[in-house]
Amino acid sequence: MKTFFVTGGAGFIGSAVVRHIINNTNHKVINIDKLTYAGNLESLIEIEKSDRYHFEQVDICDSSSLNDLFNKYSPNYVMHLAAESHVDRSIDGPGDFIETNIIGTYKLLEAARKYWSQLQDKNSFKFHHISTDEVYGDLHGTTDLFTEETSYSPSSPYSASKASSDHLVRAWSRTYGLPVIITNCSNNYGPYHFPEKLIPLTILNAIAGKKLPVYGNGEQIRDWLYVEDHARALYKVVTDGEIGQTYNIGGHNERKNIDVVRTICDILDDMIADKPENIQSFKDLIEFVTDRPGHDLRYAIDASKIQHELGWEPDETFETGIKKTVEWYLNNTSWWQRVLDGSYAGTRLGLGN
Ligand code: NAD
Repeated sequence: MKTFFVTGGAGFIGSAVVRHIINNTNHKVINIDKLTYAGNLESLIEIEKSDRYHFEQVDICDSSSLNDLFNKYSPNYVMHLAAESHVDRSIDGPGDFIETNIIGTYKLLEAARKYWSQLQDKNSFKFHHISTDEVYGDLHGTTDLFTEETSYSPSSPYSASKASSDHLVRAWSRTYGLPVIITNCSNNYGPYHFPEKLIPLTILNAIAGKKLPVYGNGEQIRDWLYVEDHARALYKVVTDGEIGQTYNIGGHNERKNIDVVRTICDILDDMIADKPENIQSFKDLIEFVTDRPGHDLRYAIDASKIQHELGWEPDETFETGIKKTVEWYLNNTSWWQRVLDGSYAGTRLGLGN
């Protein structure tokens, strides 16, 4: 049995990683999460009773608490997902992104280095930093792909802070020999996604008969990956990946934002006979709004390295994954209603309402 630290384990992808490890292995998981607005322990209800799962409410900027956690649990692996992750929020207020994504990663690296440098078996530890394809900037051609060699050119405060954290992680490897692996992934979607992001926002607005906002002309292209495929890839990388390497992770599912929204509307049109008043199709709710400043045009990942070297491929196509996702939101109304009305925040205080 190995011990995994998962930072940000109450978030969208982190909770999928925690569920994946608890449900599919015999390993122990320590979820280290500050519980910002994006952290939701209700995403972990199905595994929270496992005696292999422990939650620690800790800010990754708090060095002393991090040192205590390393001494208390002696982890084999750190999977670092804690971050501020929403581009629009980074434009409105970059401070938290600098604090958590850059300073927090630095504090975590230092705590990990302190712990690792005292280990007798230095090969028994890996630090896996989870990052985004947004560090590469955007692509203007229609066939270019981001590879692990693509140079960094981040556009938003979010992607710049993630790029910065990637550089710190590489420097800690090169300078101090800390055994690190980095992954850069494309856009994720799936269950338990906070409803400020495009796909859950579109599903929930449509069900409520509200407008479906699409930035600019909706021509921006993203490469979509089902979150459970990402969780599987991350587990594969941290256990089997080669130290010092970077792996790009993507779904081979490039879609224009407007086509994503239309696909969701088509699925809802099939599933919901009883439509909100005054509409024939959910597509009637689509509304184009002023584009996000600095909006990247196209992201697309070349995921051939992880496929060839570690044998990982996504199980879901966009068509299968988006259908599952819409069904999940229709069947799990209490999870998202408690997010929308703010009552999910009660569980972090033990109020449980
Ligand atoms: P999320 O916003 O859903 O979750 C982030 C989690 O981190 C939350 O639980 C939050 O409480 C926690 N957190 C934030 N600040 C913290 C701090 N200072 N200390 C401890 N915990 C803190 O994010 P996500 O979408 O699950 O993304 C997870 C990681 O994956 C991020 O690093 C992100 O950059 C990366 N990523 C995300 C995507 C995507 O499409 N969502 C794609 C590629 C990479």
